[in-house]
Amino acid sequence: MQKTVYYIEGDGIGPEVWKAARPVIDAAAKAAYGGDRTLVWTELLAGEKAFKETGEYMPQATLDTLSKAELAMKGPLGTPVGGGIRSLNVTLRQVLDLYACIRPIRHFGGIESPVKHPEKVDMIIFRENTEDVYAGIEYAAGTPQAKKLLEFLRDELGAKVDTAAGVGIKPMTEGGCKRLVRKAIRHAVDHGRDSVTLVHKGNIMKFTEGAFRAWGYEVAKTEFGDVTMTEDEAAAGGGKPIVIKDRIADNMFQVALMEPEKYSVIATTNLNGDYISDALAAQVGGLGLAPGVNMSDSLAFFEATHGTAPRIAGKDMANPGSLILCGAMLFEHLGWNEAADKIYQAVNKVLASRQVTVDLAGQMTGATTVGCVRFGELLGESM
Ligand code: NAD
Repeated sequence: MQKTVYYIEGDGIGPEVWKAARPVIDAAAKAAYGGDRTLVWTELLAGEKAFKETGEYMPQATLDTLSKAELAMKGPLGTPVGGGIRSLNVTLRQVLDLYACIRPIRHFGGIESPVKHPEKVDMIIFRENTEDVYAGIEYAAGTPQAKKLLEFLRDELGAKVDTAAGVGIKPMTEGGCKRLVRKAIRHAVDHGRDSVTLVHKGNIMKFTEGAFRAWGYEVAKTEFGDVTMTEDEAAAGGGKPIVIKDRIADNMFQVALMEPEKYSVIATTNLNGDYISDALAAQVGGLGLAPGVNMSDSLAFFEATHGTAPRIAGKDMANPGSLILCGAMLFEHLGWNEAADKIYQAVNKVLASRQVTVDLAGQMTGATTVGCVRFGELLGESM
């Protein structure tokens, strides 16, 4: 079986992390299946490389191909400096309707963490990616638009507002919330996870965050009623494999530190998800090893979670781990779990040997620093 993966090399350290990562991902498939299952890599242009070749940072041909694709993976893209050019990442997200940002968070042995038991963290975060205060509807204080909007709120709707305020809008729809929660519960079902926690700030923002919670429970009940139950139902004897919980966002930050083992799949809104993804990644010492995927209903677009790291670009110092673990996520997405396990085993083995890139060496005692390419070779050799 062959699967086509479209890839974007990316800017800055993009080319070097790909050079190290792709052979490792291919080696994992080979180690698991001989030649029976392989990935076919097809490059798409974006970023600096595209600009040099076509005069555009995000060629239409790239977007056209991606809009029909099932699998893609990208290195980091810099945001071109200069007027009028939108962030390329935001463009991709919007044009392709990549509404779910998914990040698994787990600890790898040997990496120092700020908590005593980072190994208890094994969560996967589903963050809504298109709505909420990130929708970009904002007006600066004192502008005619802000004034007009605030006067409308005051005069027509009776809101108590200071018309001199800056203002941002937080739109959240039933469809937007439900499709995100649906994806999170579907993941729990497919991967044998025992809980999905809806994280929201619904005690304060009732009709956005609170609605997210209500719509989330509704999806669970109406579409997954045979396999899910609430915490109350679980306490009463339950008997179904997945518990749907909900936590207020501030409380979630506490319990993620105090009892992380009680949380598995997290489904949350855009802003909450932004905060909690980084907090949890830091909790396992893992910002340098965190993979991610942005998904629409048809495309799984895996991406290194770090940026272009311009200061170390071209110096063979970058850590290719994020992209390599994107490969493991891609295999899991395909159900090629044996290949994913090959990657996890190799990462654990090489971390145990303490031969790591400079960023990881800073988080380990007694480590030897190796370059980006050598780190990839060590992973490939240990399969
Ligand atoms: P960054 O992630 O590039 O760098 C932050 C710090 O982490 C730097 O010290 C860098 O050297 C280090 N670092 C990052 N990745 C590393 C790796 N793989 N190995 C070792 N060290 C690594 O973030 P930034 O400096 O805020 O952003 C630089 C550029 O990247 C900007 O143009 C930004 O827009 C872009 N960016 C892109 C993405 C993406 O494509 N998903 C994400 C974040 C930032």
